[in-house]
Amino acid sequence: MRHTTIIVGGVAGGATVAARLSRLDSERRIILLERGPHVSFANCGLPYYIGGEIAREDDLLLASPELFRSRYGIEVLVRHEAVQIRKAENILMVRNLQTGEMLEMPYHELVLAPGAVPFRPAMPGIDLPGVYTLRNVPDATAILRAIEDGKVRSALVVGAGFVGLEVAENLQRRGLTVHVAEGAPHVLPPVDSHMAGYVHELLEQNGVLVETGVMAGGIRRTGNGRLQAYADNWCSAEVDIIILSIGVRPESGLARDAGLETGINGAIVTDEQMRCSHPGIWAVGDAVQVVSRITGKPMLLALAGVAQKQARVAAASIAGRSGERFSGVLGSSVLRLFGTTIAMTGLNPDSAARLGLGDQAEYVDLHPANHVTYYPGATPIHMRLLFNRENGRILGAAAVGTSDVARRIDVIAAVMGLGGTVEDLEMAELCYSPQEGSAKDAVNLAGMAAANCIRGLHPVAHAEDISADTLVVDVREKAEVDRQPFPGAMNIPLSELRRRWREVPADKPLLVLCQVGMRGYNATRFLCSKGLNARNLTGGYLTMSRRRK
Ligand code: FAD
Repeated sequence: MRHTTIIVGGVAGGATVAARLSRLDSERRIILLERGPHVSFANCGLPYYIGGEIAREDDLLLASPELFRSRYGIEVLVRHEAVQIRKAENILMVRNLQTGEMLEMPYHELVLAPGAVPFRPAMPGIDLPGVYTLRNVPDATAILRAIEDGKVRSALVVGAGFVGLEVAENLQRRGLTVHVAEGAPHVLPPVDSHMAGYVHELLEQNGVLVETGVMAGGIRRTGNGRLQAYADNWCSAEVDIIILSIGVRPESGLARDAGLETGINGAIVTDEQMRCSHPGIWAVGDAVQVVSRITGKPMLLALAGVAQKQARVAAASIAGRSGERFSGVLGSSVLRLFGTTIAMTGLNPDSAARLGLGDQAEYVDLHPANHVTYYPGATPIHMRLLFNRENGRILGAAAVGTSDVARRIDVIAAVMGLGGTVEDLEMAELCYSPQEGSAKDAVNLAGMAAANCIRGLHPVAHAEDISADTLVVDVREKAEVDRQPFPGAMNIPLSELRRRWREVPADKPLLVLCQVGMRGYNATRFLCSKGLNARNLTGGYLTMSRRRK
């Protein structure tokens, strides 16, 4: 038999393994099996197909079976489902879904790239007509057909994660009244509650009706034929369709039944070359358990870039190039919602606390402009940078804004991926022209604020540090304070502080407040130089006022 590699799953992970393997070894027979009707389709584009921004189904299809065959010599079998691995014999049992025929397919190497399936909890009403999940082109087409028949006026999206919110925006673009129900205390659970506040506000400003802390336990059809999600002490608005977007589960039944080692939620366990627990079998993508590069612990992360990087490593490993490794994930993600971008990488204060890293972690908030403010069109980027307070290692970052947001988080993620510190961000040499940034880029500023914190030059405080035992010294100008007062604060503008600093009580820890944290830093330095115990409320009024809402 010609040397044969069979790949199960023909999208991000599987198609990438196939293509790279064919480049590394053109003599090998490569068979790509896909249960669905399409290979290499753009899952990430599905919400925008529903919304109409991507106009045609064909635009989602990145490569056809014919292209795989002609360009790479890869045999693609769509509508073929792998149903059993007879691993002792190196045989894969495959069902042709068009004919029902069972095929016995021998292999030398097997790659599992079956992805993850939308989570559908065993709740009453989950199978009612009008309840959808979104994973592939037929799912998107079904939702689109329902909307296009004109009878659907409202929708409930259960789950306010990345995909749920993308779907919510796109259903709204179609003119539907859109409700979102999230079980966690805030929308977009991967970011912290503070950054999620920006997203919540954005959704409400755009007319999406959001409820948080509500965990749907069932779905029912109401007397007037509409759908309603409910729990013991909650029920949603009555809507025409419901989209469940409450996470995914690794589609690892094939691996589990074959006795391969599995981990969290049944995800397939691999080594750094993506090899499974049985020789001759590799696995990549959403079905695989990954390791956090921050904590070193196993976790799940269903992202296309992760699947594709793993796929390249698996192909290299299969081709005998064992030097390539997949060394884990940071969790860099981005969402564009109603013209605003929310990007994140690594941990945040909430997740660090959950992981027991709260004692080591410190963070700074800042609100720099995307480019110099004298050039027209500057917009703020609301940033949060989390770092190890002892050694300055970057632990994570998140940012929200309308322009150039992902670029800043990408830079931080790249430095973090190399094990960098906040001083590396401070010194990062980044592009600058008035239209594109600042001589002190937002990333540099974040690094400076954090590095000065570690150096003891910039003691920082947060909203939760404000108490009856502390005094907030507001160093904004009087006109600013009149417009946006901060209750309980003593106002001495920075411009008067050198003259009036003796008015500040010396017997209390001082928390210094300005609008965004910059003047507060200057005032903190000055007060500390006078022997007072002062810390800067990082992010200033713009951050504090959000916490107090
Ligand atoms: P998949 O792409 O899911 O492919 C697995 C394929 O295997 C499926 O087509 C399935 O039919 C097939 N299969 C499963 N079992 C068998 C079997 N037994 N036999 C044959 N075939 C089988 N990620 C991002 O990074 N950014 C985004 O913006 C983003 N947006 C997304 C939006 C949506 C709506 C969705 C659903 C996902 C999004 N993702 C995004 C996630 C991203 O698409 C996945 O991480 C990525 O596709 C995973 O690749 P994979 O190859 O592991 O799995």
